[in-house]
Amino acid sequence: MQIRRLKLCGFKSFVEPAELHIEPGLTGVVGPNGCGKSNLLEAIRWVMGESSAKSMRGGGMDDVIFAGTGTRPPRDFAEVVLQGASTGGEELEVVRRIERGAGSAYRVNGRDVRAKDVALVFADAATGAHSPALVSQGRIAAVIAARPAERRQMLEEAAGIAGLHVRRKDAEQKLRATEANLARLDDMLAGLD
Ligand code: ATP
Repeated sequence: MQIRRLKLCGFKSFVEPAELHIEPGLTGVVGPNGCGKSNLLEAIRWVMGESSAKSMRGGGMDDVIFAGTGTRPPRDFAEVVLQGASTGGEELEVVRRIERGAGSAYRVNGRDVRAKDVALVFADAATGAHSPALVSQGRIAAVIAARPAERRQMLEEAAGIAGLHVRRKDAEQKLRATEANLARLDDMLAGLD
C-alpha cells in the first residue's frame, strides 16, 4: 500500500496536531537524538493495530498519550490518522484513537471497526504493524538473526497472504461451532424418536 499522509495528535511527543506528507519511494526520518523519529514509526505501527505496549516502549497502552512536561499538562487522548491508497488503488483512511483509561477505538473510511478488521485491511495490503517495510532501530539485526519460520512470516506478509491465515483460523472456528451445533441437533432428534 502507499501511505500518503500521517496525522498525529497527542501521540507521545507530538502534543500539537502534526501532519506529514509521505512521497512515493523510500522514506527516511532523520533528526537529532530524542526529536521523535522512533515515535513517528511507532505511530504508523500503532494505527495499523499494534497491540503490544512493550513494543511501543511503554508499560501500558495509555503511555502513548502525551504525558506532559514541566510546562505542559498531559493530554487525555491520542489520535493517529493514516491516509493512503490500497494496492488496488482504493482510498483508505484509518483512524485509531485512545482515551486515558478507556482503550482504543478504530475507524476505517469513517466506519467504526474492530482491531482485527484493521489488521486484516493492512495484511491484505501486504503491510502491517510488523511489516519489514517499517525499518526501526535494531530491525535489520533482527531480520538477519530471524529463524526460518520468522523469515517465512515476513515473506508471507510481503506477499499479502498473511490475512489468509487469519481468515482460515476464523473459518475453522466457525466450522467447529457448526459441527458442535449439528451434533447437538442429532442428539435432540434422537431424543424425539
Ligand atoms: P534517538 O535518535 O535517540 O533514538 P528519536 O528521535 O528516535 O531518538 P524518540 O525515541 O522517538 O526519539 O522520542 C523520544 C522522546 O519522546 C523523548 O523526549 C520522550 O520523552 C518523548 N516521549 C515519549 N513518550 C512520550 C509521552 N507519552 N509523552 C511525552 N513525551 C513522550
